[in-house]
Amino acid sequence: MMDYPLTLSAILERAGKYFGDMEIVSRRPDRSLYRYTFRDFYQRARRLAECLTAAGLKRGDRVATLMWNHSAHFEAYFGITAAGGVLHPLNLRLHPDEIAYIVNHAQDRFLIVDEVLLPVLEKIESQIKLERIFVVRHGQPAQPGPYEDYEQWLQQASGHFEPPRLSEHDGASMCFTSGTTGNPKGVLYSHRALVLHSFMQASADACALSQRDVLLIGSSMFHVNAWGFPYTAAMVGAKLVFPGSQLDAASLLELMEQEHVTITCAVPTVWLTMLALLDERGTHWKLPQDVRILCGGTAPPESLIRGLDRHGFHIIHSWGMTETSPMATVSRLRPSMSTWQEEKQYEVRTKQGWPLPFVDVRITTPDGEAPCDGTTPGEIEVRGPWVAAGYYNAPASKDRWTSDGWFRTGDVATMDAEGCIKIVDRSKDLIKSGGEWISSADLENALMSHPSVREAAVIAAPHVKWQERPLAVVQLKSGASATPDELRAFLGAKFAKWQLPDDFVFVSELPHTSTGKLLKMELRKEYANWQWSGSDK
Ligand code: AMP
Repeated sequence: MMDYPLTLSAILERAGKYFGDMEIVSRRPDRSLYRYTFRDFYQRARRLAECLTAAGLKRGDRVATLMWNHSAHFEAYFGITAAGGVLHPLNLRLHPDEIAYIVNHAQDRFLIVDEVLLPVLEKIESQIKLERIFVVRHGQPAQPGPYEDYEQWLQQASGHFEPPRLSEHDGASMCFTSGTTGNPKGVLYSHRALVLHSFMQASADACALSQRDVLLIGSSMFHVNAWGFPYTAAMVGAKLVFPGSQLDAASLLELMEQEHVTITCAVPTVWLTMLALLDERGTHWKLPQDVRILCGGTAPPESLIRGLDRHGFHIIHSWGMTETSPMATVSRLRPSMSTWQEEKQYEVRTKQGWPLPFVDVRITTPDGEAPCDGTTPGEIEVRGPWVAAGYYNAPASKDRWTSDGWFRTGDVATMDAEGCIKIVDRSKDLIKSGGEWISSADLENALMSHPSVREAAVIAAPHVKWQERPLAVVQLKSGASATPDELRAFLGAKFAKWQLPDDFVFVSELPHTSTGKLLKMELRKEYANWQWSGSDK
């Protein structure tokens, strides 16, 4: 067989050649909708590739984006990679110091930024060094100022671009993920990994994405490449709908209705609000029936899966990570389960499901591989063609991979005799709030540097809207005093607002193991039914 490279450039060429008339809808910052076609997208992505090449971009160079979910970001997904560069979407929700660290660690050369996100850029500019910065203004005229205008830049292209020959092993995209402590870690996705992930994602028992679909990109484009959907959509020629910065449930619902969306994706927090909206409206509404929702990032509760089913929204529950591109398992009912009682079917759908093709999963305990009995918990280890083999320039984190080449996920699960996995815990000390990570260890270290704090533990406590929120359990030094507001203000210098603990509990002593380690399990049990003090909690 021919050694044909699996590259995103082939997907771009295919999109331009065969799906030219297919529509792309994109919401602008003023909420108006911008419509154009795959043909326009193709030409603009190639113009971007041409401009980047003219600007001196070399194979493997990183180009950062600081953008919401819209058509210009989609063009960057393909334009940067067509020029041989690496797309590096920045998570705009992180603390400015973290974003600056990430830009520097990745050695980004260029940046494409939304005008509405310039305040984020201004906070980090003194800490980073970029060669050129281009501002996307969504139809608004160029402004004089320190940055170049993205549209004017694209207009400099001749329209004749000779794509470089790429290897499928070249880097195409890069996303960072939080470590339990210390700096975020980068994952560099190869063209091959993203192409193979797209084939898998489009397959019938994964998301069954086809040119008959209308896909709304509801998960952030700076989170694991919007779960790979932009690549898969371009490959199959599905109509695309981008919600801009409006990723809240009400705005997504409006677009779903207007554009007759058939498939979408977002974390459970969004769907919990969506369900409340749908329940308020009752069942008489104009939405297309049988909308598929790719849902993961945290486990969707059974009541959510059931509730959305009532409205014709069907969750496809998947587990994955930044390190797994992200889809690794999917929980689809098997034909033999179609006659099962509803209760049992929902039980299966809340599990994380079965490994996708070419993804190997094993559950490991300190005594070796766990039996497939559905009850023995162990850490999930994973390997496959779209699983990271290491973090970008982070040799100290090698211990996340086993000596025989499996990635240690830090998720604790059981596997049953059929190979279905169920996540039961997390061994990594992290909190996941509305799909975004918060490091307990970093918060604890910061808290313990406060002059009044003797010891502190930060744990994930259940939350109706965000699924988990940080709760700080604090022992003060004898005779010292501190209020929650004081501690929150103290942490505020280092952490983004949404990362701060919502509540602080003051205790006379924290529980420890015999070796002096904090007994977090005990604290999690003790505060499992914590009643949050704020208004929307
Ligand atoms: P990220 O790298 O930010 O995408 O986060 C990946 C982590 O999110 C996993 O290691 C899990 O801890 C968690 N996660 C992702 N999907 C699920 C799911 N379906 N159920 C439970 N936890 C999940």
